[in-house]
Amino acid sequence: MELRTEHFEAEILHPAHGFAPVVTPLEVRWDPLTGHTARVLPPSGLMAPQRYDLASLAEDTRASCPFCSERIETAVPRFPPGIVPEGRIRVGEAVLFPNLLPYSQYSSVSVYSPEQHFLTLSQLTPRLVADNLAAQVAFDRAVLSADGFAQWASVNANHMLPSGSSLFHPHFQGIVHRIPTNQQRRLAAVPGERYAEYLATERRLGRRWLGELGGVEWLAAFAPLAPGDIRAFLPGGVSSPVELASDQVEALGAGISIVLGLYAELGFESFNMALYGAPVGTPGYVLNLRMVCRSNLEPFYRSDVAWLDRLHGEAAVDLPPEELADRAAGRFR
Ligand SMILES: [Zn+2]
Repeated sequence: MELRTEHFEAEILHPAHGFAPVVTPLEVRWDPLTGHTARVLPPSGLMAPQRYDLASLAEDTRASCPFCSERIETAVPRFPPGIVPEGRIRVGEAVLFPNLLPYSQYSSVSVYSPEQHFLTLSQLTPRLVADNLAAQVAFDRAVLSADGFAQWASVNANHMLPSGSSLFHPHFQGIVHRIPTNQQRRLAAVPGERYAEYLATERRLGRRWLGELGGVEWLAAFAPLAPGDIRAFLPGGVSSPVELASDQVEALGAGISIVLGLYAELGFESFNMALYGAPVGTPGYVLNLRMVCRSNLEPFYRSDVAWLDRLHGEAAVDLPPEELADRAAGRFR
């Protein structure tokens, strides 16, 4: 498989250099699975490191937080008994309940722990992540057994306000629906051989390959959707989160925790995540996950989503995937 990239140079007469010519290299890359393009720029300071006092925001938001242990029992919704007889799902410290604002016919929120209103990315341990993920898998199974048409499951995260999270208290969100999202549709249309070729190519090249943990393969995305784009793949016939065995949930949770620790070291505290499920038995489909960094929170912060991302569906990142892979080296072995 060819990993397609094209290099360009943009020349300007620079005002800070007496209007002498200055050339900026620019790369356009094609995603090996979907063909979607991305732009890779040299380091340009697009993403400011974390400076804001998140602990003080934690204190400001704690007293009215519906996800904290003092309020969660009475403040969050319950599922109808036909879907989740107990109303909510608990795994370890994680608690899962319906989203007040459903994005799908079946829509969940799960907190890592009602006791933990504030968790920095380095505090999201493998235990907390795996239990939260296990709660989402249990939710997906409950929905599928109640409604056999709800085949498209995903497990997602907005972490901290810049990522789209409306509540400070850290949580995942799950959706299960009869209709896939655009990205689920694109990924499910990729032939199985392409997944195998992509993983074999990246493993052979080694440049963006991060390693394998418990059967989950991790790599820095060749054509990123956003800064810090790291992907995980679970080859072996698993299409949907409902099929994940408990050891696979543990392995995936451990890997997610490692990526979050890396993000924290890189100076980020906000991220998005999606585990893209397809219907059980989708031929050749490889269940996969993607995680990206978002802007750090600060007053009048700059969003990392601009016209290029929002209206052209294309990212321009100034953290090259190879540099990201260098920073992640050794963590997944
Ligand atoms: Zn809280």
